[in-house]
Amino acid sequence: MNNQRIGLIIGVISTAVLGLMWLQMDLIRTSMRVNEDKFDKQVFTVLNAVADRIEEEERIEAERYKNGYNRGFFPQPGANSLPVSFNGINTPLNIGSEDQSRFLNQPSLGFNFIDTDEPLEKRIDIGELDEYLRQELLNQGFAAAFAYGVYSNEAERFVIVNGKKVDSAKPSSHQPRLTASLYKVSLFNNDAEPPGPLIIYFPTKESLLWGSVWLDFVGAGLCILLILGCFWYTIHIIFRQKKVSEMKTDFINNMTHEFKTPIATISLAADSITSSRIAGDPNKVSRFANIIKQENKRMNNQVEKVLQMAQIDKRDFSLKVTAINLHDIIHRAVENISLQVEKKSGLVRAEFGATNPMVEGDVTHISNVINNLLDNANKYSPEKPDITVISANKLGGVEVTVRDQGIGMNSEARKHIFDKFYRVHTGNLHDVKGFGLGLSYVKAMMTAHKGNIEVKSELGKGSSFILFFPHQVADSN
Ligand code: ADP
Repeated sequence: MNNQRIGLIIGVISTAVLGLMWLQMDLIRTSMRVNEDKFDKQVFTVLNAVADRIEEEERIEAERYKNGYNRGFFPQPGANSLPVSFNGINTPLNIGSEDQSRFLNQPSLGFNFIDTDEPLEKRIDIGELDEYLRQELLNQGFAAAFAYGVYSNEAERFVIVNGKKVDSAKPSSHQPRLTASLYKVSLFNNDAEPPGPLIIYFPTKESLLWGSVWLDFVGAGLCILLILGCFWYTIHIIFRQKKVSEMKTDFINNMTHEFKTPIATISLAADSITSSRIAGDPNKVSRFANIIKQENKRMNNQVEKVLQMAQIDKRDFSLKVTAINLHDIIHRAVENISLQVEKKSGLVRAEFGATNPMVEGDVTHISNVINNLLDNANKYSPEKPDITVISANKLGGVEVTVRDQGIGMNSEARKHIFDKFYRVHTGNLHDVKGFGLGLSYVKAMMTAHKGNIEVKSELGKGSSFILFFPHQVADSN
């Protein structure tokens, strides 16, 4: 899969997820709005019912008055009889809010108005108002906390708040919120001039409305997070696979390249041996036979390296642990590489600082580890290699440092050099052959020996690979 296609998929999925998020938010918003509409309707039903009952109450009182009880009601001038052709509908006060206008469309039918000089708070039985409100709220299934008040247009202040008369000198703390509330209904709406509204507000309204949608909200959020997580993971895997596949292609190219030279050499040597001019010369035959043998050995070594790695991958290897002297191994490895280093007019030396160089380990593998590191130190020092191997005793073991003054590497490379097949692309300038297997083998071996490997390197300045071998492998198992 190429980068363009991956980019396209990321784009499409991101857009789809964003769209999904937007749709979900819209759905939740709509659901909130519907809930709020329902809430509003119920509140107005309650308010209307309470206002009706209060008015009805007064009408009954007035009937009593007509029958001789004097409670201070006076007929409205011009009204031919005392109340009331009352139709049972109380029209809420229009306070100019558009939201409310739909509740305000009920017609105000013709009435014979009651009028009274009594102040509003005296026309209402506060206990009854409180009780009616609670009853009607309960009828509508409200369990939410609420506060209410009755505002007198004449006094220009709240005269009743939460079941108590309000002293004009001491306004209630609920007043600002009651004033701002949209839930109002005009009381005694049949008066020529309605004396004021009953207002209610619900301090927990917002959380109540949220309460009905929060599960949807959280659920949708979680699902979207899950999708995003899986999406991110998939992309991560795609990129990792892509990298692995690139590294494998590199590996195959390298491998082919590495085999091509010995195959060509062997082919040439075989041709020569079979040619009549050389076949008769035993010296030349033996020289070409030697070349064939050497090239064969080289190929064998390459195959061996790959096989070893496969074994390590399958954890299909066993260490033949014996007591070994690291100084001996280092000494031999330095000697092996010195020929190649000197060819480039370089220098390789060992500084044996450890007083106790004995460790437990597999001689072959530990030799391979040191050889690999020296090989790299030489390979990645394009001019005059300057390589030092230093040993030192550290708590419980021996530390071996392989230091070079070569091309070094940046932090990104430092993070990955121990990955299988990883190679820094140095370009044609330092086109060094390799499979990208050496350091992953070294790392695997150090782990198998309960040791440790660290790298310190700076681009252009050189690298140090620091190995730690514990004296005892078996005990620390
Ligand atoms: P190979 O040498 O076959 O490419 P390795 O696993 O040995 O594979 O090394 C992985 C990569 O680490 C190398 O390609 C190289 O870029 C980098 N590297 C290893 N050793 C050194 C070093 N001494 N100096 C600079 N770069 C190094």
